[in-house]
Amino acid sequence: MITASPGARITSPALADWRQLWRDSVTDSRELLSLLELNHLADRLPADDAGFSLRVPRGFVARMRPGNAHDPLLRQVLPQLAEMEQVPGFTTDAVGDLAAREAQGVLHKYQGRALLIASGSCAINCRYCFRRHFPYGDEMAAAGQWRQALEHVRQDTSINELILSGGDPLALSTSKLEELSHGLAGLTHIIRLRIHTRLPIVLPERIDTPFTDWLKSLPLQKVVVLHANHANEFDDSVDAACARMRDAGATLLNQSVLLRGINDDADTLAALSERMFAAGVLPYYLHQLDRVQGAAHFEVSDAQAQSLIEDMRGRLPGYLVPKLVREVGGDPSKRPL
Ligand SMILES: *Cc1c(COP(=O)(O)O)cnc(C)c1O
Ligand code: SF4
Repeated sequence: MITASPGARITSPALADWRQLWRDSVTDSRELLSLLELNHLADRLPADDAGFSLRVPRGFVARMRPGNAHDPLLRQVLPQLAEMEQVPGFTTDAVGDLAAREAQGVLHKYQGRALLIASGSCAINCRYCFRRHFPYGDEMAAAGQWRQALEHVRQDTSINELILSGGDPLALSTSKLEELSHGLAGLTHIIRLRIHTRLPIVLPERIDTPFTDWLKSLPLQKVVVLHANHANEFDDSVDAACARMRDAGATLLNQSVLLRGINDDADTLAALSERMFAAGVLPYYLHQLDRVQGAAHFEVSDAQAQSLIEDMRGRLPGYLVPKLVREVGGDPSKRPL
């Protein structure tokens, strides 16, 4: 049996409905600046949000420090004039590639693992993300592409781990996720489900009882890979969401992107590792930035990245040091730096 019976629902403190909170996100850059008492920055906003609209849930805004133009959470979401600069090597090429992948809905690049593009939506728009050139909606899952993707997974018994990615797979309703897990029933070669998501960080209310009931009911090993870049992204609500997922049997890992001006110093990265461990989350990857047009101002050199990791190794237990990697097309795994 894949889904929990409705009668088995455990009651927990009422959470605000996450869809309502999502709809209520800040989408106006000037409003965000005003909430943070930074109105004077309004004349430094790029026209039309540099072609990638601002979107940030209010609970995440509440973790930003008012009056601080350099707030590490604000910098991840606020459109910058620097995004308008054309920098050699930073392209939109990844988009065409993604469009092609999108059609199939499944990416099978690495042995044993298949990645399903479960949703194109996200609850937050991160300025450094490839999505800025491909702000697709939620139509993939709706169009029943899972059937095709699951057919691929059914036929290839070398796959033992299914990875839900996107976009953000938890942008889907829990009933959509139930549909997916029904599709997995009977695929005995799948032993593990992995979910890559930023929702538990930016909109922790998403981890509600129907979701954790679903997670708990899966007859699979479960891994949730979060995406936090800075210790300030954690607060009590995120801790509680992490605890609920662990209670539902998930192993929690985190991947970060190394971002200039946000987390490119050893103190900040060490604090992030310590903070996530306090929430029951282990660091997994620290990614070098994808070279997408408009994100060049976030790039950190490989030499500096390596020295940051060395610094972390010198001061943290090994299990709190993430693996520094870059994704390179055609490689059989993420490439260690
Ligand atoms: C990153 C990625 C994975 C997962 O790789 P791990 O090293 O196992 O985390 C799987 N498939 C694709 C296509 C990926 O890009
Ligand atoms: S895919 Fe991840 S990094 Fe990109 S916008 Fe969505 S949440 Fe942010």
